[in-house]
Amino acid sequence: MRTPLLAGNWKMNGSVELVEAFGRAFAEAKLPEGVEVAIFPPFPYLDAAQRTFADTPLQLGAQSLNPQQSGAHTGEVSGSMLCEFGVRYALVGHSERRQLYREGDEAVFDRLLAALSVGLSPVLCVGESLEERDAGRTMEVVLRQVSVAMSRLEPAQRARVVIAYEPVWAIGTGRTATPAQAQEVMAGIRDYLASDNPELAEGLRLLYGGSMNAGNAGELLAQPDIDGGLVGGASLKVDDFLAICQSAG
Ligand code: PEP
Repeated sequence: MRTPLLAGNWKMNGSVELVEAFGRAFAEAKLPEGVEVAIFPPFPYLDAAQRTFADTPLQLGAQSLNPQQSGAHTGEVSGSMLCEFGVRYALVGHSERRQLYREGDEAVFDRLLAALSVGLSPVLCVGESLEERDAGRTMEVVLRQVSVAMSRLEPAQRARVVIAYEPVWAIGTGRTATPAQAQEVMAGIRDYLASDNPELAEGLRLLYGGSMNAGNAGELLAQPDIDGGLVGGASLKVDDFLAICQSAG
């Protein structure tokens, strides 16, 4: 049985005030049994979030990390720094990082290893563009992204990775993949991993991301291979995100 994970990616949004609003709401919220919820705020809010979320079920994630542990990398943040703030998860390979900051498959792999090396669970984001989907290349693209990252890891490392399938055309566009479209790709990812290690694939958590909201989350999360969500826009509104978390029960 896989533990559902709802991950709220605030991107470059939020404030100390929003951290406090989430702290208040989740301190009192009734979440479905066994559901994990994590907020991924911008780095400057990690300190406030760690303190504010201490009395809530909320865990912490980071939106990125540098592959190095320390050194002359102006503007960057390392995995060991994130650990000092109680961070448990780190996004790697988010499509915005791939596109806007030119992080290709190798850069994604380096970050994945860096996260694992300090005990963080990487959330590996994969997904096809609209052009790739229209050209019938969805599975080819997604499985390449999965395989470049996963095939070079030891089984024990692989078991700590969470994979988020995020069709690029659905991120921040309000255009969600249908539950059937998401399930098809995510079953394909699990089958691919099962061909090498069925037990590992069965235990691995796969999240859907792309315009998930309070209205569509229930149907998406009911799919057999969708174990949670990576939520952008709707994770900035406490009531909406709470409703999404509650539909994971
Ligand atoms: C994301 O940023 O990972 C995401 C899925 O964003 P949105 O929910 O806004 O599409």
